[in-house]
Parts: sequence; structure tokens; C-alpha cells
Amino acid sequence: MKDAAELILRSRRVVTPEGERPADVAVAGGVITAVRPYDSAVPDGARLTDLGADVLLPGLVDTHVHINDPGRTEWEGFATATAAAAAGGITTLVDMPLNSIPPTTTTAHLTVKQDTARGRVHTDVGFWGGAVPGNLKDLRPLHDAGVFGFKCFLLPSGVDEFPQLSPDGLADALTELTRFDGLLIVHAEDPGLIDGAPRRGGPRYADFLASRPRAAEDTAIAGLIALAERLGARVHVLHLSSSGALPLIAAAKRSGVRVTVETCPHFLTLTAEEVPDGATEFKCCPPIREAANQDLLWQALADGTIDCVVSDHSPSTVDLKNRDTGDFATAWGGISSLQLGLPAVWTEARRRGHTVADVARWMSTGPARLAGLTAKGAVAEGHDADFAVLAPEETFTVDPAHLHHRNPITAYAGKTLHGVVRSTWLRGEPVARDGRVTGEPAGRLIERPAGGS
Ligand SMILES: [Zn+2]
Repeated sequence: MKDAAELILRSRRVVTPEGERPADVAVAGGVITAVRPYDSAVPDGARLTDLGADVLLPGLVDTHVHINDPGRTEWEGFATATAAAAAGGITTLVDMPLNSIPPTTTTAHLTVKQDTARGRVHTDVGFWGGAVPGNLKDLRPLHDAGVFGFKCFLLPSGVDEFPQLSPDGLADALTELTRFDGLLIVHAEDPGLIDGAPRRGGPRYADFLASRPRAAEDTAIAGLIALAERLGARVHVLHLSSSGALPLIAAAKRSGVRVTVETCPHFLTLTAEEVPDGATEFKCCPPIREAANQDLLWQALADGTIDCVVSDHSPSTVDLKNRDTGDFATAWGGISSLQLGLPAVWTEARRRGHTVADVARWMSTGPARLAGLTAKGAVAEGHDADFAVLAPEETFTVDPAHLHHRNPITAYAGKTLHGVVRSTWLRGEPVARDGRVTGEPAGRLIERPAGGS
């Protein structure tokens, strides 16, 4: 098997773990069997696909996606979400445990979700479990059934069937997870500080921003880090927006606390200053903050304080976005970006002097490591032959009608972005080309690898 080749992908720009270089990537049986010098002899019987100067990246891994299926399939679904993902260069995604009905809080519910997804997915799909009041006894069985870890909230989640943990509930869940070294992934905003913040409602973005202060994130993250340190537990901070928490996170990492952090394309590429009043397609929690805050998030990505960039694709129907009144307080919070994360982040990364290899580290290698997916996230021998092929200097203007996610609404509408995803490959087969999915759904349902996180 080693060195065998059914397919050679040749590019002047292959992003490998050692950096970008010209190379021939040999694939057999859906796995990368060798990364050879550029323009090597093509083995007998192997097909050659020459990508020219388009960049060959490891397929993106998106560990934060709300697919909402079954139960709220008018918001999103496995077929539409994974089509959008594949068109956007994503080859693996991990579904969040809430907004579907049932939520992924028991093994029976996990089975319902897997049965719903099976045969309909264009990318590989795994599942997070949920930690909610009353399901402590379900955590171990869910872990054994292959979920990648457990999500919890510290304040209301937005849907009644997925309630938040109390401070005691959080400590209990984390204590239980330490018994099998499970991972807790946390929506970290402090409920007391959110309750105490001014809540004016209405269409002014400044009023919405004031209702979700940075201090609410900073306080919740400080508490979470202290608890992880005390219990020796593994925690992950979801969708970090506040730069105020970065010094604390950096210090915790330096002192060996097992904490990782993600941020999202919208926090890196959109700013509070540019959100028009009433433009609820920009609403998410925690919120998009000011440009000065964004600069610090980029610094933290560059220095490794932030581990990865994932979409938090959290769609709803258009009517729940209150387009008529523009009221931020009651509009559904969530940004639809599954198909656009790579070009959005690359556009801003490029402007700030970062490389495509940096983007691959943040959007593929980092999330693969978070999920313990040792066969994903790198163009390297022995890894799955999952790729995104990007034309980095080409531009396009976002038209929501051309996106595959179910409801044609996105905060990126009308933006001109750099980076066109030419094709996406899963286990050596193309699953999307030029923005369209190709062939039957070829994705697999995946589980946390044994010995992985
Ligand atoms: Zn989310």
C-alpha cells in the first residue's frame, strides 16, 4: 500500500505540515500514500490531475456546525449543510448537539441523528454530545458511542429543550468527564453579567452590542479555567469574541491548564462599526465586536493563543431574523457562513500578511486536533486524501442565492472575497467542483477515534 498510487494530484503550491511547496501527492484507497517531489514520474495505471498553480490544502475541518436535523429541518438539514460545506472546501464537520429535536443528549437521541444523516452527507460528519441538567448518567454512554465531547451553556441557549447548566451542574459534569478524560466545550458568557447589562432592544446595533458585554465572556472564561485547573479537566472555549479574555487564556496555557479556544470567521472579518442598524443577519452571541478587538484576535491567532477557526454556522428561517422590524433583541442569533469561511478568512488573512498555510493550520489542522482526528487535517502520508483546491487570487461577490445552505441569508451578502474554491476531494474522490456538489453523497458518519479526544 505504501507508495501505491491510483491518483496523483500535482500542484506548484501544496500546503504540507512543513509549509507550502511544489509537490505530487499520491493517493490510493482514499489515503495519501506519498508526497513526492513535483513532476515525479507518474506510476503506471495512476491518473494525473495537474492543478497548476491552484493551492492544494488539507480539506477543512469544521467542528462547530448546527445542522438542526431532525426537528428544525426548515432551518437547515444534513443534505443542504454538507453540500454547502463541500462547496466551501470543508471535508469533515462535527454537528452541534442543539437546535435539532431531539438534542444529542442521550445515546438514543444520537442514534436518531445518525439515522437521519446516513446516506445524505457530502462530507464526513461526526457529533458532539450535550451536557444538560439531568443527563449526567448519559455522558459516559455517549462518549462510548463515539461523540467527540460535550457542549454546555452557562446561560439560556435559545431553545427550551437544551437548558443551561448551573454552576454546580457545570462542576458535576466536568467531574464526570474527568473519569474518562472527556472534553467539555462551553458557550462561555456569564448569565449574571448578561442579565445586568442594558437591554434596550430595537434595531440599533450599538444597543445590541451593549447587551452582550465583553466582561460577560471574560468572567465566564476565568471561572471555567479555574474549574478546569482545579479538576484537571479538559475544556474548550467556543466562539471567542472578546479579546479581554486573551491574556488569561494565554497565561492558563503557559501554566499547563488544559484549555483550547476557537474563534469564528465573522469575528475575524466583520466589525461592529460596519453593521447597519436593523441588519439582523449580523446577530450572533457573543456578538461581532469593534475593529480594535478584532486586531487582538488576529494577534492571538498568530501567536497560538487561539487554536482554531470554525464557522459556528447557525442558521434559521428568514422570518426568525425579524427582517421587518430589525429588532436585534428577539431575532435568532446565528450567522450562516458554512460555504464562505475559507474565502472570508483568507481575504482578511491575506490583507494582514498571513499565508494560505496559516489559514490551513487554523481551519484544518487545528480543528482536527481539537476533535482528535489524527487522519484529518494534513496533506501528509497516511492521512485521508481530503483536500480543498483554492485559487487564492481570484475574487467573487457573495450572492446568497448561490449558496447551498437552506435559507438564503448571510452576513456576507454582497461582499467581494478573495479565494475561489475550485474543488473539494474526500478520500481521493471529488465531492464538489466550482461551487456544485458532484455525484451521490459520499460522506461517512465518523466517531471519535479510540484513544483520541
Ligand atoms: Zn454554535
